[in-house]
Parts: sequence; C-alpha cells; structure tokens
Amino acid sequence: MNHPYLSTTLINKVYKRLFLNQCYVCGFKQEGCLCSSCTTFLKRNDHCCDRCASPTLSPLALCGECQKEPPSFSKAIAPFEYEGLCRALITKAKFENQPHLLRPLISQLADHILQQNQPIPKLWSHVPTATSSLIERGFCQTEFMSQLLLKHLRCYHPDLKIELITIERIKANQAQHTLAKRERHKLTHKHFYVPQTPSESVLLIDDVITTGSTVNACAKALTLSGAPNVTVWALARTP
Ligand SMILES: [Zn+2]
Ligand SMILES: [Zn+2]
Repeated sequence: MNHPYLSTTLINKVYKRLFLNQCYVCGFKQEGCLCSSCTTFLKRNDHCCDRCASPTLSPLALCGECQKEPPSFSKAIAPFEYEGLCRALITKAKFENQPHLLRPLISQLADHILQQNQPIPKLWSHVPTATSSLIERGFCQTEFMSQLLLKHLRCYHPDLKIELITIERIKANQAQHTLAKRERHKLTHKHFYVPQTPSESVLLIDDVITTGSTVNACAKALTLSGAPNVTVWALARTP
C-alpha cells in the first residue's frame, strides 16, 4: 500500500473499521469485518465444479471443461461468485486504492477453509501482478491477500509455518535470452516462471478466477518446476 497517497478520510475509515469494530460496508457496530445483513449480499459459490470451482446450475462433480481437459491444478476453492457486493469490494480495492476493502472477503475465505477442514499447504505462492498494474495500483492484491490470510489462519493454527514460492512474469522476447537452456522448458505459453524447485504441494493464491487461464498457467509453471500438485484459493469465481 502506498501510504503517502492515502487521504485522511481513508485513514479515518480504515481506523474506524479496524479498531472500532464497524462493518466495512455499512459502518454498523459489530464484531468482525462484515455485519450479518451485508453478508447476505455476498453470493456464495456453493454449487460449483469440484476441480475448477466454476459455478454450475446443479451440484456436479466435474464441469464439462474439466472433463474434457483437466486444468494443471488439482483443486480450486472460491467461496463467492464474482458479482454484487463481492465484485464491488474487489473493484474498489483494486482500482480505487482501497486494499482494506479486501479484508472482509479474506476473513470469509479463511473461515471457509477452516470450516471445510481443507489441508493447508506449507508452500505458498500468489499470481504475480503485472508491473504496469503494480505501478498504477501501488500494491499487489494477491500478496496482500496472502499476508492477511496467513494472519487469520494463524489464529487457529498458531504453529503454521509457510515458505514462499515466487512466480515471475517474463516478457516473451526476454525469456529466451535471460534463461539458461535447461531452464527454458519451465516456461509456459503465458510466460510464468518459477525459479525455485518446490518439492511439496503448493498453494496458489489469486483474487478472482475469471476464465481460469492465468491460474492454470501459473499452476503449470509450478508443476513444471517440480511441485507434485497445486491447490488454488481465490476470493471469487466469475459465473
Ligand atoms: Zn454492514
Ligand atoms: Zn471444472
């Protein structure tokens, strides 16, 4: 977050939400980030594909896409559909420099993981934000998500220790020149590159899974670098 550019009004808002226990959306005084009535405006992604979390009309084990061509990750979790309040919070956070608006969604994602007893991998990575967006936005939303999510999960698993796996974006024309021959095979069609060699399952964090092609390319880069499998956690999935 680029603190010098935050307005006093915004700092005030964050302060009130964080320390005075106000709902992030309506300001109602209560415990937690979202009051119960604002929570009802988040559309839960309960009926979805077991593999890619794509919303389906009826509860299905696997969607048609995953049956035809399974993605490079083994499972994706996205508790909300990307619409309504969820979409508004993410859009404002990313494009109006208000990352604190991701807090209610991150806390809901942490609750979802804990309630479902999902295994928590020890190796964590996140979809890297493109440099142009990083300059414009001043922060990387997936890195912010990863730090906050870890804080939430540590409330219940105080001994949780993780290691970060970096995913780099590589420009198409830069790729061939900067990498040694043996490293070139790790490049994917979307030019993501993992310098480390992960020996265990890796968690990949993203804010919204839209078509799934970005998380798939990142997951592919991770598996090509040695990760035995990749799980994706996101806030939302586009219907
Ligand atoms: Zn509220
Ligand atoms: Zn699917």
